[in-house]
Amino acid sequence: MAQAVLTIDLSAIRANWYALAAMGRAETAAVVKANAYGLGADRVAKTLAQIGVRRFFVAEAQEGVALRRALGPGPEINVFSGHMTGDTAAIRDAELTPMLNSIDQMLRHVEALPGHPFGIQLDSGMNRLGMEPGEWAALRDIALSQKPRLVMSHLACADERDHGMNAFQLQTFRQMTDGIGAPRSLSATGGILLGTDYHFDVTRPGIGLYGGLPFVDAAPVAALDIPVIQVRDLVPGESVGYGNTWVARKPSKIATIAGGYADGIIRAMGPKAYVWAGETRCKIVGRISMDLIAVDVTHLDDMPETVELLGRHQFVDTLGDAAGTIGYEILTSLGNRYARRYVGA
Ligand SMILES: *Cc1c(COP(=O)(O)O)cnc(C)c1O
Repeated sequence: MAQAVLTIDLSAIRANWYALAAMGRAETAAVVKANAYGLGADRVAKTLAQIGVRRFFVAEAQEGVALRRALGPGPEINVFSGHMTGDTAAIRDAELTPMLNSIDQMLRHVEALPGHPFGIQLDSGMNRLGMEPGEWAALRDIALSQKPRLVMSHLACADERDHGMNAFQLQTFRQMTDGIGAPRSLSATGGILLGTDYHFDVTRPGIGLYGGLPFVDAAPVAALDIPVIQVRDLVPGESVGYGNTWVARKPSKIATIAGGYADGIIRAMGPKAYVWAGETRCKIVGRISMDLIAVDVTHLDDMPETVELLGRHQFVDTLGDAAGTIGYEILTSLGNRYARRYVGA
């Protein structure tokens, strides 16, 4: 069967959650937006709910609706995009908690769903989502009288431990929220690693749960094994793939494997990426095409049935480096053609 197998280790996700939770005393939530970074929001969220996670974050209301269906009543589902026009029914019916990010959203929410839970997002310097200090000053007393479930902000540079922006945003967030009497949240994975000053009442890890940087000690979660379809011998001067970009300099063995850019194996990574055959690293050669990739296996004694693109030897961030991107994008690009196998349930 020429189908690659994506193995998702739920026990590694649990271990990563426990490790991040043990770094402080805050309630540790879980960010499962974008289908849990491509790994399957249903399975991931159910696994985490079973070990006691009571609060989840998604990017938009429709993700929240699907998550509520998977989790049932109980856990709080917070929506980063807040209360958008057209989302009222979803927020009400799926009992979502929108993280309101502007005065307009606040007005929309209290008009459409008076008494319905909400949270608040503040901008402490990233200038992406959230109320500015001036807006917050104007709204603060009214908003707090309605008992927000959470008041949060987001760090722009938390993956760089020594970046001055971290302390600046911490101070800004404190100035905006000290003494408010509502639960507070500032940190995603990177912020958790900055230390407990950054934790407040609730932390919001995403990538760290899924085995990516900046959580260097994360257990790897995703493994991707790709079948070899064919192996051929080349004589010096023969070329491989579109555009003849790779030419054999010596007698070579080339394996063609069953994956390509349509599976989220980013084409630009071709010149720098490797796969693993057992314990041996093999270079990708020529251009990555839509469904196929060529690999130099000249140095192998035995031809493998499958090769590893992600797994024990190669984590998402190694592959991200090869593609000039980050582990987050590797995970969220993982394709729909893989056979998905969950282990460690
Ligand atoms: C995506 C996101 C998170 C999770 O970030 P990670 O770096 O994956 O841990 C937390 N908070 C907000 C606002 C986000 O957008």
